[in-house]
Amino acid sequence: MNKILIVEDEAPIAKLVRTALEGAGYRCVWARDGAAAADRLEQESFDLALLDIMLPGMDGYELLDYCRTLDVPVIFLTAKGALQDRVRGLRLGAEDYITKPFELMELLARVETVLRRCGKTGRILELPPDIRVDTVSRVVRRGEEAVALTAKEYDLLLLFLQNKNVALYRDRIYERVWGELYLGDSRTVDLHIQRMRRKLGLEKRLVAVYKVGYRLEV
Ligand code: CA
Repeated sequence: MNKILIVEDEAPIAKLVRTALEGAGYRCVWARDGAAAADRLEQESFDLALLDIMLPGMDGYELLDYCRTLDVPVIFLTAKGALQDRVRGLRLGAEDYITKPFELMELLARVETVLRRCGKTGRILELPPDIRVDTVSRVVRRGEEAVALTAKEYDLLLLFLQNKNVALYRDRIYERVWGELYLGDSRTVDLHIQRMRRKLGLEKRLVAVYKVGYRLEV
């Protein structure tokens, strides 16, 4: 069962969202301000966060940083519908953006889409013809054989499996997997990717993209 953090200072909206999500089978935790949300994020693991932007104390944009560090996908849920806010949210790394007022059906559909896209729904991720990743036990198999990956190599593999055919920038890869700001040290990313793809026989499919980074071709 997927667990969702709802960060919203307006109780009636939080209650509505919570009721809808729980009705659809999700577990929910509600935090009414940014500080409480950051505490919960540090204490528990979540599959998704629904963030209001205008919050008392720490705002939704700051919380997005927390979520990204912990690899929790974010959907902004906010009254700020202006194009520039939307662009800012997506550029900072939010997965989606829903403007209030919204239909609950739309909210549920978007939650489901983001969870699927981020590999949070299914336990098994596959890369045909022969690679299978069990995201609960973190066991990676190539054919019948288990492949021993380091924690970073595993996180890299997951990132590419969740972004098939997408050219990922080195800085984005670094920030997602290492959880730190990228300061231009491209060797770290390259070395780990080279080792990971050799172990899995992906030399021809996980390709370097000139001046960008890497792409997993499927
Ligand atoms: Ca608010």
